[in-house]
Amino acid sequence: MEDTYKHKGLRKQLVEEIKRKGIEDERVISAIGKIPRHFFFEKIFDIHAYEDKAFPIEAGQTISQPYTVAFQTELLEVKPGDKTLEIGTGSGYQAAVLVELGADVYTIEYQKKLYQKVIRFLPNLGYQPHMYHGDGSKGLPRFAPYDGIIVTAGAPAVPEALIDQLKVGGRLVIPVGDDKRQSMLLIKKISDHEVEKESYNHFSFVPLRGEQGWSP
Ligand code: SAM
Repeated sequence: MEDTYKHKGLRKQLVEEIKRKGIEDERVISAIGKIPRHFFFEKIFDIHAYEDKAFPIEAGQTISQPYTVAFQTELLEVKPGDKTLEIGTGSGYQAAVLVELGADVYTIEYQKKLYQKVIRFLPNLGYQPHMYHGDGSKGLPRFAPYDGIIVTAGAPAVPEALIDQLKVGGRLVIPVGDDKRQSMLLIKKISDHEVEKESYNHFSFVPLRGEQGWSP
């Protein structure tokens, strides 16, 4: 697939749109402006890649809305070198944004079909996060602790394991609610036993599955 002038123009318009909607972090804006989102779409749908909307991908899942990707990433406050866990690799787009910000990215996907696709696709695009297949509702304890954890599927509650796998000073960004609507929670780990929470409305994600999610 090519990144034509038309795609670049549409991407610029998308960037302006997410800025209008309140995204301010220049590094996040520049990552969204750089990554050809249409590469993450089937060619026949590439025209939809620069609409600020979620879009269906394989296995009944979605690539998140660009504004939502930017909002979650902004809350995460990623610094270069931060060990960052993403739960819900999906298309790989959010992982690419995190790599662009200089994070050391670990990402885990529940659906084998998506995992098998992304392990070939992202390196071909030049992005090399550490990619795993499995139930991320329990985190990825093997590589913990993390500076940041971002969950890109809607959870019924905050899994305790994710807070355990954060460093003190780390941030967890997770949508929590029912199967239709969620609030975006930002959880800052202040000490081994203390967290601070902020909540932002309203988002709509596919459900987090697995042991600490909605269902296996
Ligand atoms: N970050 C993705 C992107 O940029 O395309 C968004 C993907 S979609 C909104 C959420 C993803 O979370 C889906 O691919 C889904 O299969 C995955 N998922 C759901 N439950 C999961 C779990 N327990 N562990 C890992 N991934 C999970």
